[in-house]
Amino acid sequence: MTMPTDTEAALGLDDYRALAARQQPTWPDAEALGRVTARLAAAPPLVVPSEMDQLTARLAAAGRGEAFLLQGGDCAETFAEAQADRIRNKIRTLLQMAVVLTHGASMPVVKMGRMAGQYAKPRSTDTETRDGVTLPAYRGDMVNAHAFTREDRVPDPERLVAGYEISAATLAVVRAFTAGGGADLRRVHEWNRGFTRNPAYARYERTAREIDRAIRFMAACGADFDALQSVEMFVSHEALLLDYERALTRVDTRSGRAYDTSGHFLWIGERTRQLDGAHVDFLARVANPIGVKLGPTTSPDDALALMDRLNPAGTPGRLTFITRMGAAQIRTALPPLVAAVHAHGAPVTWVTDPMHGNTITSASGYKTRRFDDVLDEVRGFFEVHHAEGSVPGGLHVELTGDDVTEVLGGSEEIDDDGLALRYETLVDPRLNHQQSLEMAFQVAEMLQR
Ligand code: PEP
Ligand code: MN
Repeated sequence: MTMPTDTEAALGLDDYRALAARQQPTWPDAEALGRVTARLAAAPPLVVPSEMDQLTARLAAAGRGEAFLLQGGDCAETFAEAQADRIRNKIRTLLQMAVVLTHGASMPVVKMGRMAGQYAKPRSTDTETRDGVTLPAYRGDMVNAHAFTREDRVPDPERLVAGYEISAATLAVVRAFTAGGGADLRRVHEWNRGFTRNPAYARYERTAREIDRAIRFMAACGADFDALQSVEMFVSHEALLLDYERALTRVDTRSGRAYDTSGHFLWIGERTRQLDGAHVDFLARVANPIGVKLGPTTSPDDALALMDRLNPAGTPGRLTFITRMGAAQIRTALPPLVAAVHAHGAPVTWVTDPMHGNTITSASGYKTRRFDDVLDEVRGFFEVHHAEGSVPGGLHVELTGDDVTEVLGGSEEIDDDGLALRYETLVDPRLNHQQSLEMAFQVAEMLQR
C-alpha cells in the first residue's frame, strides 16, 4: 500500500480497511499485492471526474422520468473475450436497444455498459469441489482463472494489473466506436445482423426504416446532424475488490473530492451492502454516481439507512437503487421500499435488474433464466412504480451481442435441450442479441404510458 496523503486521510479513504469486507479473495502473498496496488495507484485514470459528474446529471434526469437508463453487459467479462469484434457486438446491441427505446418512448436513453471492468464476482461458496478435489471458487478473471486446477484457481494479484490494462483497451474500443461515427444514428440498419425472418430483427428493421425516413425529412428541412456523429456511453462494474477500487481512486484537485476512476458508475452488490461493512464505507467517500443492488430481503429501514449513508446531501443522480426481487416477489417486496423512500424525500433513481432474482437450474443442469420471468419482473417493476407514483428509471440486464443460448424462451424458443448448443458464460446466463432486442421492444411499450 502507498502512504495516503493528508487529503486522502482527511477524506477517510482508508477507513474501510478496519471494517469487515465480504467476498474478498484470500491473496496468497500480501507483499505481492502491495506492489501491485502501488503500481495501480500511480497509473493513469480510466475515466475522469467531468464524465462522472455528467453521468450523475443524466441519472438525476432518469430519476425524474426525463430519461431512461439502459445498463447492460456480461455477468462476468473475461480477458479472453476482450476482442474488438465481441466488444463492438455488445456496444451495437446496447445501441440497438437504445434506438428501440428512444423511438418507442420518445425518451432520451442513458447508455451504460456493464463493461471495461466487470471482472470480479461474488460467489455463494468460497470453494468448489469436483470429484473429491476442493479448490478456491472462480471469482472472476481479475482474481483467478476459471480452469479447475490448483494453479489456475489460486488468486494472483498480477491479475488486478491485467484487469486494469484490459479495461483500458476495452474502453478505447468503446470510445472509438461511439465517437468515431460508428454509432451514428444514420447507420441504424448496419447494426442489424442475421435474418429479418426472425421476428425481433424484422421488427427492428421496420423501426430503422422509420428512423431513416424521419432523418431524411429533417435533413430536407435543413437540420444539422453533427450531434448524431457521436454517442455518449458510460461504463460500469460492481465495485467488489476494494484493493483495486482504492488503488484507482484519485483526489480531484479542482473540487477536492475523491473519484474512483476505475469506471463511471460503480455498484455495491446484494451480498456486500452491509451498513457497517467496508464496501458501503468506501463508496460513501467517492463522488462517482453509485448504485446498490436490493434483493427481496431488503427492509425499508435498510433502504433508508443506505440513503443516509451514501447520499447524505441528497444529491439527485448520486444514488441508484437496482432492485432484483424475482418475478414472483417484485409486486409485494418493492412497494414498501418505494413508499419508505418516497416518505424520506431524498431522490433515488430506481432501476430494475430482472435477471438475478430469476435464476434457476434447468433439468439438463444449466444455470439459466426464463425470458418470460425476466419480462414479468420488468412488468411488475413498472406496475409498482406507477401505482406508487414514483418513476421507473432504468433497466439493468445481463446480455451479450452474440448468439449464445443461455436464457430459456424468447421468439427462438430456446428450450432445455437448446441450452447446450452455445452456453458460454462462466457465471450467469445472458440474454443473447435477439432476446435483448425483444426485451427492448417490450420495455419500449411499457415506457409509452
Ligand atoms: C451481478 O450483478 O452479477 C450480481 C452478482 O448481482 P447481485 O449482487 O444482485 O446478486
Ligand atoms: Mn450476474
